Amino acid sequence: MRRKNEILNKISTPYVWVNPRRCRACWICMDTCPKQVIGKVGFLWHKHIIIKNSTDCIGCKKCIKVCPYGVFKEV
Ligand code: SF4
Ligand code: SF4
Repeated sequence: MRRKNEILNKISTPYVWVNPRRCRACWICMDTCPKQVIGKVGFLWHKHIIIKNSTDCIGCKKCIKVCPYGVFKEV
C-alpha cells in the first residue's frame, strides 16, 4: 500500500493528474507552477516531468492551462 501511494504521489496531487507519457519535456509547466510541485526526470532521450511535491499543490491549475500536450488533467 505504501508503495502504491508513492507511485500515486509521482503522478498526481490532490488537484491534478499527470500523464508523463504525453510530456515533450518543454519545461514550461515547471516555470509556471507557483509552488515548485513539478520536477524533471531525465536520462538521455528519456525526459519527462514528474510530481515531486504533491502535498504543496494548491490547485491553481496553471499547469493544465499552460501545457501544450495535455499532460495535466483535473482530478
Ligand atoms: S508543459 Fe507539458 S509537455 Fe512541457 S514539460 Fe510540462 S508537462 Fe511536459
Ligand atoms: S495546480 Fe498549480 S500548484 Fe498544482 S501543480 Fe499545477 S501549477 Fe503547480
